Amino acid sequence: MAQPIAVTKPIRQAASIDESLAEIPTQDMYREIISRLGEDPHRDGLEATPARVEKSMAFLTKGYLEDPTKILLGAMFDVDYDEMVIVKDIEMFSLCEHHMLPFFGKVHVAYIPKGKVIGLSKIPRLVEVFARRLQVQERLTRQIADAIQEAIAPQGVGVVIEARHLCMMMRGIEKQNSSTVTSAMVGCFRQKETRMEFLSLVRQTGSVGV
Ligand SMILES: [Zn+2]
Repeated sequence: MAQPIAVTKPIRQAASIDESLAEIPTQDMYREIISRLGEDPHRDGLEATPARVEKSMAFLTKGYLEDPTKILLGAMFDVDYDEMVIVKDIEMFSLCEHHMLPFFGKVHVAYIPKGKVIGLSKIPRLVEVFARRLQVQERLTRQIADAIQEAIAPQGVGVVIEARHLCMMMRGIEKQNSSTVTSAMVGCFRQKETRMEFLSLVRQTGSVGV
């Protein structure tokens, strides 16, 4: 027997674009999708699946409920430091907005302060807020860079994401081991020397591959 899942009411407010669907519980829609796929949504293993899917989708898209500026505003400090701050190998899990399949990998973030720094633990949190949404890797990269730029107006920001996309791997469109690398360089990171310093620091441990 399937484990009961404690999800009895919709996790989010219904915000339907189609009024005829607005009253239908999310779990019923997942049940309908399962049956359209050719399965019996009432067999034992699938009985609680709509509840589980609703719960897991709510978790995987919880970034919509979080405000990135709030996270950063609570953790900015004045400092007299103008060397590169780098946080690398941040684990990232997201959903591609084209197929709603996972893409995942590592995020490397660097900036050179101009009077203010961000508490180091807040950078992975920031990545999480943007990653837990329906995304494309390019936009995710840019949003992380822009949020830091707006919060502390540093001399520059660099963000590199290396990720593997299940929509490509599972559907056999690209080589299964290929990864996609995106970068966003703002301010002084547009200068070649700064960018090269960042990229060489990212590569330093030699285990950059995802
Ligand atoms: Zn995709």
